[in-house]
Amino acid sequence: MSELQRLILDRIRDIPDYPQTGVLFKDITPLLADPPAFAEVVNELAGLHRVDKIVGIEARGFILAAPAAYKAGAGFVPVRKKGKLPSETLEASYDLEYGSATIEVHRDAFAPGDRVLIVDDVLATGGTACAAVELVRRAGADVVAIAVLMELASLRGRERLDGVELHSLVIV
Ligand code: 5GP
Repeated sequence: MSELQRLILDRIRDIPDYPQTGVLFKDITPLLADPPAFAEVVNELAGLHRVDKIVGIEARGFILAAPAAYKAGAGFVPVRKKGKLPSETLEASYDLEYGSATIEVHRDAFAPGDRVLIVDDVLATGGTACAAVELVRRAGADVVAIAVLMELASLRGRERLDGVELHSLVIV
């Protein structure tokens, strides 16, 4: 195991029965609160690919994607839950590990052919990431890869990504 993986795993805690009974939630707030660990994670994400834009998925994806975009010299684009973005949007619906949801992106968020990295904290069933890929493509940009802090391998989200390159800083 790499030092970065150890740094991450030691700072993510399991919360049983959150937000619903039977779900074991991976809480990343201890990692975010640790300056060296947070910095290492952001640097790692920023160095993965040369891209024009980094997309963050609401809400925890924002926390990682925005500083990574700053560090990489890329633009930051939010993908938000339905009804939160002020201008004209594209939307995609998907099933979650618990419930279902619709996410949106601004229709004019990208220049044609922009190279895009999509960032989120956790890949579980892959539904969110899959919908984000669809949105970015429909908005006219090119998805270079998806990056997550943690992949929950047992939920097999990777298989839903249809060959899009996936970087998981840790896989559990
Ligand atoms: P998926 O669509 O892959 O099933 O779920 C991933 C989305 O739900 C991500 O946006 C992620 O923030 C959230 N999520 C699902 N399970 C967890 C978890 O255990 N911990 C955290 N931090 N987020 C989760």
